[in-house]
Amino acid sequence: MQPIFSDLGQRLAGPSGIQELMDDCGAALTTHPDMRMLGGGQPAAIPEVQKLWRERMHAMLDDGSIDKTLLNYDPPGGNPVFREAFAAFLQRECGWDVTQDNIAVMPSSQSACFLLFNLLAGDTAGKKRRILFPLLPEYIGYANQALSEGQFIACLPRIDETAPHEIKYHVDFDRLRITPDIAAMCVSCPTNPTGNVLTQNEFDSLQALAAAHGIPLIIDNAYGHPFPGVIHNGFQPKWQPGMIFSISMSKVGLPGVRTAMIVADPAIVKALSNMNAIVSLANGNLGQALLLPLLKDDTLIKLGPQVIRPFYRERSDFAKSVLSNALGDRVPWALHRQEGAFFLWLWINGLPIPAKQLYARLKERKVLVIPGHYFAYGIDKEWRHPHECLRLTYSQPQRIVQEGLEIIAEEVKSLF
Ligand code: PLP
Repeated sequence: MQPIFSDLGQRLAGPSGIQELMDDCGAALTTHPDMRMLGGGQPAAIPEVQKLWRERMHAMLDDGSIDKTLLNYDPPGGNPVFREAFAAFLQRECGWDVTQDNIAVMPSSQSACFLLFNLLAGDTAGKKRRILFPLLPEYIGYANQALSEGQFIACLPRIDETAPHEIKYHVDFDRLRITPDIAAMCVSCPTNPTGNVLTQNEFDSLQALAAAHGIPLIIDNAYGHPFPGVIHNGFQPKWQPGMIFSISMSKVGLPGVRTAMIVADPAIVKALSNMNAIVSLANGNLGQALLLPLLKDDTLIKLGPQVIRPFYRERSDFAKSVLSNALGDRVPWALHRQEGAFFLWLWINGLPIPAKQLYARLKERKVLVIPGHYFAYGIDKEWRHPHECLRLTYSQPQRIVQEGLEIIAEEVKSLF
């Protein structure tokens, strides 16, 4: 029997670009263990980080606190002790003026964004309110999260050549328009897929624009401040009332605990907590229990600059040098400037075939990448640029990364 799905059901359960890609990648990986995975978003296995989480789990087993953690449902907005400790951590380490009323714990930043985008935007009193992404390319995971048509709108970037074979995207303030239908703006910083980090000026200008129009600015800090802190230029955005920050536990090596914290005004925190009660009842509490004692000293805040960031910097430098050598000077290529996150973003200017076809050719050669067009949405005109781009992950072992990048370069060169 073919069940009948509601309009909303079809929207969420029907085929989507991201789901097709994920299925395709998953199938390729399970049926071809020799596939070189340069496509995923997993954090790398960093021994020192894994050791920290193992030690915390041993401590919870030894002192018996694991029993209470596993046995109890927390309130839907998070454990009150954790929320208080997290607010104190943000005050002390980041200088943010927050209390526990500004903190909502959520079952991942993915689900927090889904709830936020649909809390703030969509059909509202007979009108359409929209989320504006001011800087494309933007995170693939947002693309299918709107519950109504036309709820997302996005702005193309200004592309600057910052060095030979190097570009940087900037918010194009000449193009950016905050019309009355805009309910909020959202930027991932550092950006997945490009590794772009907003400049202080851009951040300040976006904040000023949002404040002037009375709308929230959502900053998704999955890779950034205050942890895991994979930002290479020291940028530390400061939360201010009216803003919404998302801070995930995933990229400090804990994607399996599915936990993120939202920092926002109390009305948003309360709304998210109420929504979470309906959708999930409560959050998983293991992540909160693992993190709690680390909020009281500087272990967590040091983990980024001392361990995680240098690890990814080294990997990124290695991948960049392999790819630069392999591509050489015969093809017009550029990488986005390495400012943060875990990816290389490759632009082949004038790529003779769309990135989607290049993806398929590479898959034939056992290299998995993500074609760039998935990161461009919320636009009504064709934009060729992302069809000339690939997102490449370098968190796999170096031999695999090297082989994968050399095959990509060979394939690209053969097209010119
Ligand atoms: N935001 C960005 C920018 C991401 O890249 C990711 C995951 O890759 C997420 C959010 C999802 O994070 P979480 O594991 O907390 O759902």
